[in-house]
Amino acid sequence: MHFSKLVNWSHSEFNYLPWRKNRTLYSTLVSEIMLQQTTVSTVLNHFDRFMKEYPTPQHLAQATEEQLLISWKGLGYYRRARNLKKACVTICEKHDGEIPLHYETLINIPGIGDYTASAILSIGNDEHIFAIDANLERVLSRLFGLKELKGPKLIKQIKSMSLLPNEFQSFGGRAVNEALMDLGRNYCKANKTTCDLCPLKYKCYALKNNEVLSLPMQIKKDKEKHELELLRVILKKGNDFLVYKKKDTEWLHGQYEVPTFILKTTDQDLNQYPKIKGDFSALPEFKTAITKYTIKNKVLWVNEVEFKKLGLKIDDYEWGKINLSTASSKAIKL
Ligand code: SF4
Repeated sequence: MHFSKLVNWSHSEFNYLPWRKNRTLYSTLVSEIMLQQTTVSTVLNHFDRFMKEYPTPQHLAQATEEQLLISWKGLGYYRRARNLKKACVTICEKHDGEIPLHYETLINIPGIGDYTASAILSIGNDEHIFAIDANLERVLSRLFGLKELKGPKLIKQIKSMSLLPNEFQSFGGRAVNEALMDLGRNYCKANKTTCDLCPLKYKCYALKNNEVLSLPMQIKKDKEKHELELLRVILKKGNDFLVYKKKDTEWLHGQYEVPTFILKTTDQDLNQYPKIKGDFSALPEFKTAITKYTIKNKVLWVNEVEFKKLGLKIDDYEWGKINLSTASSKAIKL
């Protein structure tokens, strides 16, 4: 297998990524959690700044939730920031601030799951195991013709097979995992492949058997989609805006939003915001999306009298301007 070509390509194209320079176990923990569900280009804009703000697990463990959510802004999926903090608190309290190097110990740390534990060991500590994310699942299933359903069964199969032993021996766990991830991200994508340029094309089961896009096997689900129209009401006093903090049971919990109301939705069960009636069709708008919702945000600037005329009470909210959700930040700039 032309694995050396793949590793050379990966090194020459992607060694500039900041989390690949001066790697430590802690920088691996941070980057791998950031890279779950967020693209490399987005993480590139935030990683160095975040590491300067929180250079050690101790710094992160001591951050308040508010500080941390502000630092995480732009990366999305805020639950990961909370998990990262939980992990750092346990690392400081139970492991003297040092990230342990045993899989069983790692997955018992709150906030660290199978993938992150495997990534710390393989990418962070160069051990000869796979850190199986969606890229590795896809590439390995195509390369070796693995016919298990994508998900836990396929991951279990990969772990049980001792694939690529010579490559691990020659290049180490970090280079093998990084090269396969780069391949999955660039040439061996879910719905489009560039097999002509793939250094492993002569050994690839899926290419040889014309099964590239049918692997990994998966059950196709029709995702339920909903449309949602929201009214964002902006009331400003000095430099502050009228806002409220999102509850634990709501989207974006811990962040602040301007008073927001449902105008229309195709999901009758949605209870994230109160409903409001009126004709706001002429207002300026911008579009966003969250989970299964495509959202049209109507923006209404009001003074205090107009706010009360909507049947709303100023005392139900507070004045502030920090840690606003991305949609609320957009609304006040419209
Ligand atoms: S040859 Fe194509 S399908 Fe096979 S690993 Fe390379 S990019 Fe993926």
